[in-house]
Amino acid sequence: MGKKYRISTSCPRCGCAGTSHLTEEEIKKKYGDVPNIELECHECMMKLETDVQEDDGSDNT
Ligand SMILES: [Zn+2]
Repeated sequence: MGKKYRISTSCPRCGCAGTSHLTEEEIKKKYGDVPNIELECHECMMKLETDVQEDDGSDNT
């Protein structure tokens, strides 16, 4: 059990946008322990900067 994060992407080239919800563990597994996560747009494969925010649920004190 770890923190949850909300990763928002928006592609300047094709305009698609999305949001992923991942836990800290999943992020580390996928992207490593890095401060900046880079994703590729699934439409045009452009590298995207992501906006990662803590997803503080209501059951989290
Ligand atoms: Zn794109």
